[in-house]
Amino acid sequence: MAKVYNWQLGREMDYPYEAKYPALQFAAIFNTNRCIGCHTCSMACKSTWTFSDGQEYMWWNNIETKPYGGYPQFWDMKILKLLDSAHVSQEKEMTWNTDKKDVKKAPYGQYDGMTIFEAVQHEKPEEGQSRVLGYLPQDHEWSKPNIHEDASPINTKEHDAMGFAKEGVKLPVHDSFFFYLQRICNHCQYPACLAACPRKAIYKRPEDGVVLIDQERCRGYRKCNEACPYKKPMYNGKTKASEKCIACYPRLEGKDNIISPEGVPVETRCMSACVGKIRLQGLVKLDSNGLWEKDSSNPLYALIHEEKIALPLYPQFGTEPNMYYIPPRWAPRNYLMQMFGPGVQQSIDNYTYPTRRTLAILQLFRAQREIIYKFETKEGPKIYEREVTLSDGTKKMLEVFDDTAIGYNKNGKECVRVTVQEPAFERSAKFLNSI
Ligand code: SF4
Ligand code: SF4
Repeated sequence: MAKVYNWQLGREMDYPYEAKYPALQFAAIFNTNRCIGCHTCSMACKSTWTFSDGQEYMWWNNIETKPYGGYPQFWDMKILKLLDSAHVSQEKEMTWNTDKKDVKKAPYGQYDGMTIFEAVQHEKPEEGQSRVLGYLPQDHEWSKPNIHEDASPINTKEHDAMGFAKEGVKLPVHDSFFFYLQRICNHCQYPACLAACPRKAIYKRPEDGVVLIDQERCRGYRKCNEACPYKKPMYNGKTKASEKCIACYPRLEGKDNIISPEGVPVETRCMSACVGKIRLQGLVKLDSNGLWEKDSSNPLYALIHEEKIALPLYPQFGTEPNMYYIPPRWAPRNYLMQMFGPGVQQSIDNYTYPTRRTLAILQLFRAQREIIYKFETKEGPKIYEREVTLSDGTKKMLEVFDDTAIGYNKNGKECVRVTVQEPAFERSAKFLNSI
Protein backbone atom coordinates (compact mmCIF):
# COMPACT_ATOMS: atom_id res chain seq x y z
CA MET A 1 0.00 0.00 0.00
CA ALA A 2 1.27 3.45 -0.94
CA LYS A 3 0.62 6.54 1.15
CA VAL A 4 -1.30 9.28 -0.68
CA TYR A 5 -2.69 12.58 0.54
CA ASN A 6 -6.48 12.98 0.55
CA TRP A 7 -7.35 16.65 1.19
CA GLN A 8 -11.03 15.85 1.72
CA LEU A 9 -9.98 13.72 4.71
CA GLY A 10 -7.23 16.12 5.78
CA ARG A 11 -4.66 13.35 6.05
CA GLU A 12 -2.56 10.74 4.32
CA MET A 13 -4.25 7.44 3.61
CA ASP A 14 -3.38 4.01 2.22
CA TYR A 15 -4.10 3.41 -1.47
CA PRO A 16 -2.99 0.41 -3.56
CA TYR A 17 -1.13 2.65 -6.05
CA GLU A 18 1.36 5.51 -5.95
CA ALA A 19 -0.25 8.92 -6.32
CA LYS A 20 -0.33 10.28 -9.87
CA TYR A 21 -2.22 13.46 -10.58
CA PRO A 22 -3.74 14.85 -13.78
CA ALA A 23 -2.98 18.43 -14.84
CA LEU A 24 -6.68 19.27 -14.89
CA GLN A 25 -9.51 17.45 -13.15
CA PHE A 26 -13.07 17.05 -14.44
CA ALA A 27 -15.39 18.17 -11.62
CA ALA A 28 -18.93 19.43 -11.10
CA ILE A 29 -21.31 20.89 -8.54
CA PHE A 30 -24.95 19.87 -8.09
CA ASN A 31 -27.35 22.15 -6.22
CA THR A 32 -29.74 19.68 -4.56
CA ASN A 33 -31.99 22.57 -3.53
CA ARG A 34 -32.91 23.27 -7.12
CA CYS A 35 -33.43 19.77 -8.55
CA ILE A 36 -37.02 19.01 -9.56
CA GLY A 37 -36.48 15.29 -10.14
CA CYS A 38 -37.50 15.49 -13.81
CA HIS A 39 -34.91 12.88 -14.95
CA THR A 40 -34.09 14.85 -18.11
CA CYS A 41 -30.42 14.39 -17.27
CA SER A 42 -30.80 10.61 -17.00
CA MET A 43 -32.65 10.44 -20.32
CA ALA A 44 -30.07 12.69 -22.02
CA CYS A 45 -27.33 10.29 -20.93
CA LYS A 46 -29.25 7.14 -21.73
CA SER A 47 -30.26 8.26 -25.20
CA THR A 48 -26.64 9.12 -25.94
CA TRP A 49 -24.64 6.27 -24.46
CA THR A 50 -26.68 3.35 -23.06
CA PHE A 51 -29.50 2.57 -25.49
CA SER A 52 -28.12 -0.73 -26.85
CA ASP A 53 -28.75 -4.39 -26.07
CA GLY A 54 -27.20 -5.33 -22.76
CA GLN A 55 -27.50 -1.79 -21.42
CA GLU A 56 -31.17 -1.92 -20.44
CA TYR A 57 -30.47 -1.48 -16.73
CA MET A 58 -27.64 0.96 -17.17
CA TRP A 59 -28.19 4.47 -15.86
CA TRP A 60 -24.81 6.18 -15.76
CA ASN A 61 -26.66 9.26 -14.55
CA ASN A 62 -29.49 8.63 -12.12
CA ILE A 63 -31.59 10.67 -9.72
CA GLU A 64 -32.60 9.01 -6.48
CA THR A 65 -34.90 10.23 -3.73
CA LYS A 66 -33.16 10.29 -0.37
CA PRO A 67 -33.45 8.87 2.25
CA TYR A 68 -34.92 5.63 0.83
CA GLY A 69 -34.15 5.64 -2.88
CA GLY A 70 -30.97 4.24 -4.36
CA TYR A 71 -29.64 2.72 -7.54
CA PRO A 72 -28.70 -0.04 -7.00
CA GLN A 73 -31.08 -0.33 -4.08
CA PHE A 74 -29.68 0.80 -0.71
CA TRP A 75 -26.14 1.04 -2.15
CA ASP A 76 -25.04 3.63 0.40
CA MET A 77 -26.67 1.92 3.39
CA LYS A 78 -24.92 -1.32 2.45
CA ILE A 79 -21.41 0.08 2.13
CA LEU A 80 -21.86 2.24 5.25
CA LYS A 81 -22.91 -0.87 7.16
CA LEU A 82 -19.82 -2.77 5.98
CA LEU A 83 -17.60 0.15 6.93
CA ASP A 84 -19.32 0.52 10.28
CA SER A 85 -18.91 -3.15 11.20
CA ALA A 86 -15.20 -2.93 10.26
CA HIS A 87 -14.90 -0.05 12.74
CA VAL A 88 -16.82 -1.93 15.44
CA SER A 89 -14.69 -5.06 15.11
CA GLN A 90 -11.47 -3.01 15.22
CA GLU A 91 -12.80 -0.83 18.05
CA LYS A 92 -12.46 2.35 16.02
CA GLU A 93 -14.87 5.18 15.29
CA MET A 94 -15.79 7.01 12.10
CA THR A 95 -15.20 10.44 13.63
CA TRP A 96 -13.91 13.75 12.35
CA ASN A 97 -11.57 16.05 14.23
CA THR A 98 -12.78 19.47 13.10
CA ASP A 99 -10.13 21.28 15.15
CA LYS A 100 -7.46 20.09 12.71
CA LYS A 101 -8.42 22.40 9.84
CA ASP A 102 -6.14 23.83 7.17
CA VAL A 103 -7.49 26.05 4.38
CA LYS A 104 -5.85 24.09 1.59
CA LYS A 105 -4.91 20.68 3.00
CA ALA A 106 -7.78 19.97 5.40
CA PRO A 107 -10.71 22.34 4.84
CA TYR A 108 -13.18 20.03 6.63
CA GLY A 109 -10.82 18.92 9.40
CA GLN A 110 -9.31 15.45 9.74
CA TYR A 111 -11.16 12.17 9.35
CA ASP A 112 -9.97 9.81 12.07
CA GLY A 113 -11.89 6.75 10.89
CA MET A 114 -10.89 4.24 8.22
CA THR A 115 -11.54 4.46 4.48
CA ILE A 116 -12.67 1.53 2.35
CA PHE A 117 -9.00 0.98 1.43
CA GLU A 118 -7.87 0.92 5.04
CA ALA A 119 -10.77 -1.04 6.53
CA VAL A 120 -10.25 -3.97 4.16
CA GLN A 121 -6.74 -4.61 5.45
CA HIS A 122 -8.30 -6.19 8.54
CA GLU A 123 -11.87 -6.78 7.45
CA LYS A 124 -12.06 -8.70 4.20
CA PRO A 125 -15.75 -9.46 3.60
CA GLU A 126 -16.70 -13.05 2.88
CA GLU A 127 -15.87 -13.84 -0.76
CA GLY A 128 -14.83 -10.21 -1.18
CA GLN A 129 -11.64 -9.08 -2.78
CA SER A 130 -8.71 -7.82 -0.79
CA ARG A 131 -7.93 -4.33 -2.07
CA VAL A 132 -11.16 -2.47 -1.32
CA LEU A 133 -14.02 -3.01 1.12
CA GLY A 134 -17.10 -3.53 -1.02
CA TYR A 135 -19.92 -5.79 -2.15
CA LEU A 136 -21.39 -6.94 -5.43
CA PRO A 137 -25.07 -5.96 -5.80
CA GLN A 138 -27.42 -8.72 -6.87
CA ASP A 139 -29.27 -8.47 -10.18
CA HIS A 140 -32.63 -7.55 -8.62
CA GLU A 141 -31.03 -4.54 -6.87
CA TRP A 142 -30.49 -2.95 -10.29
CA SER A 143 -34.04 -3.57 -11.45
CA LYS A 144 -35.96 -0.52 -10.16
CA PRO A 145 -33.97 2.68 -10.64
CA ASN A 146 -36.79 4.89 -9.33
CA ILE A 147 -37.77 2.85 -6.32
CA HIS A 148 -38.99 4.95 -3.37
CA GLU A 149 -39.23 8.01 -5.57
CA ASP A 150 -40.75 10.96 -3.70
CA ALA A 151 -41.16 8.83 -0.55
CA SER A 152 -40.64 10.64 2.71
CA PRO A 153 -40.20 9.39 6.29
CA ILE A 154 -43.42 9.78 8.26
CA ASN A 155 -43.80 13.04 10.11
CA THR A 156 -43.85 12.20 13.80
CA LYS A 157 -46.01 15.20 14.72
CA GLU A 158 -49.75 14.89 15.43
CA HIS A 159 -51.83 14.01 12.39
CA ASP A 160 -55.41 14.88 11.47
CA ALA A 161 -58.07 12.39 10.33
CA MET A 162 -56.70 12.50 6.81
CA GLY A 163 -53.21 11.63 8.01
CA PHE A 164 -51.78 15.09 7.38
CA ALA A 165 -49.53 16.65 9.99
CA LYS A 166 -51.45 19.26 11.98
CA GLU A 167 -48.50 21.59 12.05
CA GLY A 168 -46.93 22.92 8.89
CA VAL A 169 -43.28 22.40 8.10
CA LYS A 170 -40.81 24.92 9.43
CA LEU A 171 -37.22 25.76 8.63
CA PRO A 172 -34.42 25.17 9.38
CA VAL A 173 -35.18 21.42 9.49
CA HIS A 174 -38.34 19.65 8.32
CA ASP A 175 -39.53 16.61 10.33
CA SER A 176 -40.67 15.08 7.11
CA PHE A 177 -38.34 15.46 4.19
CA PHE A 178 -36.95 14.04 1.00
CA PHE A 179 -34.56 15.36 -1.59
CA TYR A 180 -33.16 14.35 -4.92
CA LEU A 181 -29.59 13.16 -5.14
CA GLN A 182 -28.00 13.48 -8.58
CA ARG A 183 -25.48 10.74 -9.24
CA ILE A 184 -22.85 10.14 -11.88
CA CYS A 185 -19.41 8.56 -11.61
CA ASN A 186 -17.26 10.81 -9.41
CA HIS A 187 -14.13 10.39 -11.54
CA CYS A 188 -12.41 10.02 -8.20
CA GLN A 189 -8.86 11.06 -7.45
CA TYR A 190 -8.27 7.64 -5.89
CA PRO A 191 -10.71 5.42 -7.80
CA ALA A 192 -11.71 2.23 -6.01
CA CYS A 193 -12.73 0.72 -9.36
CA LEU A 194 -9.22 1.21 -10.74
CA ALA A 195 -7.58 -0.13 -7.58
CA ALA A 196 -9.63 -3.32 -7.72
CA CYS A 197 -9.28 -4.24 -11.38
CA PRO A 198 -7.04 -7.34 -11.75
CA ARG A 199 -6.72 -6.73 -15.51
CA LYS A 200 -5.54 -3.12 -15.17
CA ALA A 201 -8.31 -2.24 -17.59
CA ILE A 202 -9.23 0.98 -15.79
CA TYR A 203 -7.22 4.16 -16.09
CA LYS A 204 -7.40 7.83 -15.17
CA ARG A 205 -6.60 10.20 -18.02
CA PRO A 206 -3.65 12.50 -17.28
CA GLU A 207 -5.18 15.40 -19.22
CA ASP A 208 -8.52 15.69 -17.39
CA GLY A 209 -8.72 13.00 -14.68
CA VAL A 210 -11.58 11.18 -16.41
CA VAL A 211 -11.72 7.51 -15.31
CA LEU A 212 -12.35 5.06 -18.14
CA ILE A 213 -12.70 1.29 -18.56
CA ASP A 214 -10.79 -0.07 -21.56
CA GLN A 215 -13.42 -2.24 -23.23
CA GLU A 216 -10.77 -4.31 -25.01
CA ARG A 217 -8.96 -5.24 -21.80
CA CYS A 218 -12.01 -5.77 -19.55
CA ARG A 219 -12.94 -9.42 -19.03
CA GLY A 220 -16.05 -8.72 -16.95
CA TYR A 221 -14.73 -9.95 -13.60
CA ARG A 222 -16.87 -7.20 -12.01
CA LYS A 223 -14.28 -6.36 -9.39
CA CYS A 224 -14.90 -2.67 -10.16
CA ASN A 225 -18.66 -3.16 -9.61
CA GLU A 226 -17.85 -4.66 -6.24
CA ALA A 227 -15.23 -2.10 -5.21
CA CYS A 228 -16.78 1.20 -6.29
CA PRO A 229 -18.57 2.46 -3.17
CA TYR A 230 -20.85 4.59 -5.37
CA LYS A 231 -21.71 1.58 -7.55
CA LYS A 232 -21.11 3.39 -10.80
CA PRO A 233 -19.48 0.74 -13.00
CA MET A 234 -22.23 -1.45 -14.48
CA TYR A 235 -22.02 -4.84 -16.10
CA ASN A 236 -23.11 -5.41 -19.70
CA GLY A 237 -24.40 -8.97 -20.00
CA LYS A 238 -24.23 -8.82 -23.78
CA THR A 239 -20.62 -7.69 -24.23
CA LYS A 240 -19.53 -9.36 -20.94
CA ALA A 241 -17.64 -6.24 -19.92
CA SER A 242 -18.23 -3.50 -17.37
CA GLU A 243 -19.07 0.00 -18.50
CA LYS A 244 -19.35 3.36 -16.83
CA CYS A 245 -19.79 7.10 -17.33
CA ILE A 246 -17.17 8.42 -19.74
CA ALA A 247 -17.71 12.10 -18.84
CA CYS A 248 -18.83 12.60 -22.46
CA TYR A 249 -15.12 12.96 -23.27
CA PRO A 250 -15.58 13.87 -26.94
CA ARG A 251 -17.47 16.95 -25.73
CA LEU A 252 -14.84 17.59 -23.06
CA GLU A 253 -12.16 17.50 -25.75
CA GLY A 254 -14.12 19.96 -27.91
CA LYS A 255 -14.15 17.35 -30.69
CA ASP A 256 -17.83 17.68 -31.60
CA ASN A 257 -17.65 20.36 -34.28
CA ILE A 258 -21.41 20.73 -34.55
CA ILE A 259 -21.87 21.93 -31.00
CA SER A 260 -18.37 23.32 -30.66
CA PRO A 261 -17.20 24.78 -33.99
CA GLU A 262 -14.27 26.54 -32.30
CA GLY A 263 -13.14 23.35 -30.56
CA VAL A 264 -13.69 24.59 -27.01
CA PRO A 265 -14.72 22.03 -24.35
CA VAL A 266 -18.44 21.77 -23.70
CA GLU A 267 -20.39 20.29 -20.79
CA THR A 268 -21.55 16.68 -20.69
CA ARG A 269 -25.03 15.68 -21.88
CA CYS A 270 -26.46 15.36 -18.36
CA MET A 271 -25.15 18.79 -17.35
CA SER A 272 -26.21 20.67 -20.45
CA ALA A 273 -29.70 19.10 -20.49
CA CYS A 274 -30.50 20.02 -16.88
CA VAL A 275 -33.87 21.74 -16.76
CA GLY A 276 -33.56 22.86 -13.15
CA LYS A 277 -30.24 24.63 -13.85
CA ILE A 278 -28.73 22.84 -10.88
CA ARG A 279 -25.42 21.79 -12.44
CA LEU A 280 -22.12 23.50 -13.09
CA GLN A 281 -19.29 21.54 -14.65
CA GLY A 282 -15.69 22.53 -15.00
CA LEU A 283 -12.03 21.59 -15.07
CA VAL A 284 -9.91 22.51 -12.07
CA LYS A 285 -6.14 22.82 -11.86
CA LEU A 286 -4.21 20.47 -9.56
CA ASP A 287 -0.71 21.00 -8.23
CA SER A 288 1.95 18.28 -8.17
CA ASN A 289 0.61 17.04 -4.80
CA GLY A 290 -2.95 16.64 -6.06
CA LEU A 291 -4.23 19.68 -4.16
CA TRP A 292 -6.44 22.20 -5.94
CA GLU A 293 -4.39 25.16 -7.14
CA LYS A 294 -5.72 28.47 -5.86
CA ASP A 295 -7.79 29.93 -8.69
CA SER A 296 -10.42 32.37 -7.45
CA SER A 297 -11.60 33.05 -11.00
CA ASN A 298 -12.67 29.42 -11.51
CA PRO A 299 -16.33 29.15 -10.42
CA LEU A 300 -15.85 25.64 -8.98
CA TYR A 301 -12.79 26.63 -6.98
CA ALA A 302 -14.62 29.71 -5.70
CA LEU A 303 -17.73 27.81 -4.55
CA ILE A 304 -15.93 24.76 -3.10
CA HIS A 305 -12.78 26.23 -1.55
CA GLU A 306 -13.63 29.86 -0.87
CA GLU A 307 -17.40 30.25 -0.49
CA LYS A 308 -17.57 26.73 1.01
CA ILE A 309 -21.07 25.87 -0.12
CA ALA A 310 -20.44 22.59 -1.98
CA LEU A 311 -19.28 19.32 -0.43
CA PRO A 312 -18.14 15.86 -1.59
CA LEU A 313 -20.49 12.86 -1.32
CA TYR A 314 -19.43 10.41 1.41
CA PRO A 315 -15.84 11.69 1.68
CA GLN A 316 -15.18 9.05 4.38
CA PHE A 317 -15.05 6.34 1.70
CA GLY A 318 -11.65 7.82 0.80
CA THR A 319 -11.83 7.91 -3.01
CA GLU A 320 -11.74 11.75 -3.10
CA PRO A 321 -14.79 12.09 -5.36
CA ASN A 322 -14.93 15.04 -7.76
CA MET A 323 -18.68 15.64 -7.79
CA TYR A 324 -19.75 18.19 -5.17
CA TYR A 325 -23.15 18.96 -3.69
CA ILE A 326 -24.85 21.99 -2.21
CA PRO A 327 -26.77 20.14 0.53
CA PRO A 328 -30.56 20.55 0.90
CA ARG A 329 -31.43 23.25 3.42
CA TRP A 330 -34.35 21.47 5.08
CA ALA A 331 -33.06 17.91 5.73
CA PRO A 332 -31.95 16.78 9.22
CA ARG A 333 -28.36 17.81 9.79
CA ASN A 334 -27.17 14.48 11.20
CA TYR A 335 -28.43 12.70 8.13
CA LEU A 336 -26.63 15.19 5.91
CA MET A 337 -23.41 15.05 7.92
CA GLN A 338 -22.99 11.31 7.47
CA MET A 339 -23.53 11.95 3.74
CA PHE A 340 -21.48 15.08 3.08
CA GLY A 341 -19.14 15.29 6.07
CA PRO A 342 -18.71 17.88 8.81
CA GLY A 343 -18.91 20.93 6.50
CA VAL A 344 -22.72 20.67 6.21
CA GLN A 345 -23.78 23.33 8.72
CA GLN A 346 -21.40 25.94 7.34
CA SER A 347 -22.31 25.09 3.78
CA ILE A 348 -26.07 25.47 4.41
CA ASP A 349 -25.57 28.72 6.28
CA ASN A 350 -23.38 30.09 3.49
CA TYR A 351 -26.10 29.15 1.00
CA THR A 352 -28.88 30.65 3.13
CA TYR A 353 -26.95 33.86 3.66
CA PRO A 354 -24.83 34.00 0.50
CA THR A 355 -22.19 36.53 -0.45
CA ARG A 356 -22.78 38.68 -3.53
CA ARG A 357 -20.22 36.57 -5.36
CA THR A 358 -21.99 33.28 -4.48
CA LEU A 359 -25.33 34.62 -5.73
CA ALA A 360 -23.73 35.70 -8.98
CA ILE A 361 -21.95 32.35 -9.55
CA LEU A 362 -25.18 30.45 -8.87
CA GLN A 363 -26.62 32.17 -11.93
CA LEU A 364 -23.91 30.56 -14.07
CA PHE A 365 -25.30 27.08 -13.37
CA ARG A 366 -26.44 25.56 -16.65
CA ALA A 367 -26.49 29.00 -18.27
CA GLN A 368 -24.16 27.99 -21.09
CA ARG A 369 -23.02 24.82 -22.83
CA GLU A 370 -19.35 25.79 -23.12
CA ILE A 371 -17.23 25.03 -20.06
CA ILE A 372 -16.52 28.17 -18.07
CA TYR A 373 -12.79 28.43 -17.32
CA LYS A 374 -12.94 31.85 -15.74
CA PHE A 375 -15.61 34.19 -14.45
CA GLU A 376 -15.88 37.73 -13.16
CA THR A 377 -18.69 39.74 -11.61
CA LYS A 378 -19.86 43.32 -12.11
CA GLU A 379 -21.76 45.09 -9.36
CA GLY A 380 -25.37 46.19 -9.91
CA PRO A 381 -28.02 48.03 -7.85
CA LYS A 382 -29.66 46.66 -4.71
CA ILE A 383 -32.98 45.04 -5.59
CA TYR A 384 -34.38 43.87 -2.28
CA GLU A 385 -33.63 42.69 1.22
CA ARG A 386 -35.20 40.05 3.42
CA GLU A 387 -34.61 38.37 6.74
CA VAL A 388 -33.10 34.88 6.71
CA THR A 389 -32.64 32.42 9.58
CA LEU A 390 -29.39 30.52 10.02
CA SER A 391 -29.11 26.98 11.43
CA ASP A 392 -28.59 28.19 15.00
CA GLY A 393 -31.66 30.44 14.84
CA THR A 394 -29.71 33.67 14.26
CA LYS A 395 -31.57 36.08 12.02
CA LYS A 396 -29.76 38.14 9.41
CA MET A 397 -30.85 40.70 6.86
CA LEU A 398 -29.89 39.50 3.38
CA GLU A 399 -29.40 42.26 0.83
CA VAL A 400 -29.68 41.16 -2.78
CA PHE A 401 -28.02 43.06 -5.61
CA ASP A 402 -28.56 42.74 -9.32
CA ASP A 403 -24.95 41.86 -10.05
CA THR A 404 -23.79 40.38 -13.34
CA ALA A 405 -21.75 37.19 -13.74
CA ILE A 406 -19.66 36.85 -16.88
CA GLY A 407 -18.14 33.53 -17.94
CA TYR A 408 -15.23 32.92 -20.33
CA ASN A 409 -14.47 29.75 -22.29
CA LYS A 410 -11.15 27.99 -22.83
CA ASN A 411 -10.07 30.55 -25.44
CA GLY A 412 -10.75 33.40 -23.03
CA LYS A 413 -13.81 34.47 -25.04
CA GLU A 414 -16.94 35.63 -23.23
CA CYS A 415 -19.51 32.84 -23.52
CA VAL A 416 -22.16 33.85 -21.01
CA ARG A 417 -23.45 36.94 -19.20
CA VAL A 418 -26.26 36.62 -16.65
CA THR A 419 -27.73 38.86 -13.98
CA VAL A 420 -28.88 37.89 -10.49
CA GLN A 421 -32.36 39.17 -11.28
CA GLU A 422 -33.61 37.02 -14.11
CA PRO A 423 -35.30 39.01 -16.86
CA ALA A 424 -39.10 38.76 -17.10
CA PHE A 425 -40.83 39.03 -20.45
CA GLU A 426 -44.43 40.13 -20.69
CA ARG A 427 -46.38 38.60 -23.52
CA SER A 428 -48.35 41.19 -25.46
CA ALA A 429 -52.16 40.97 -25.47
CA LYS A 430 -52.06 39.95 -29.11
CA PHE A 431 -50.33 36.66 -28.28
CA LEU A 432 -51.92 35.94 -24.90
CA ASN A 433 -53.71 32.85 -26.09
CA SER A 434 -51.16 31.46 -28.49
CA ILE A 435 -48.23 29.15 -28.04
S1 SF4 B 1 -17.23 6.75 -8.62
FE1 SF4 B 1 -16.71 4.57 -8.68
S2 SF4 B 1 -16.54 4.13 -10.88
FE2 SF4 B 1 -16.36 6.34 -10.66
S3 SF4 B 1 -14.13 6.71 -10.48
FE3 SF4 B 1 -14.98 6.59 -8.39
S4 SF4 B 1 -14.65 4.46 -7.82
FE4 SF4 B 1 -14.45 4.52 -10.07
S1 SF4 C 1 -32.29 17.44 -15.31
FE1 SF4 C 1 -31.56 18.69 -13.57
S2 SF4 C 1 -33.47 19.22 -12.47
FE2 SF4 C 1 -33.98 17.47 -13.81
S3 SF4 C 1 -33.60 15.65 -12.50
FE3 SF4 C 1 -31.68 16.03 -13.61
S4 SF4 C 1 -30.47 17.27 -12.19
FE4 SF4 C 1 -32.59 17.38 -11.47
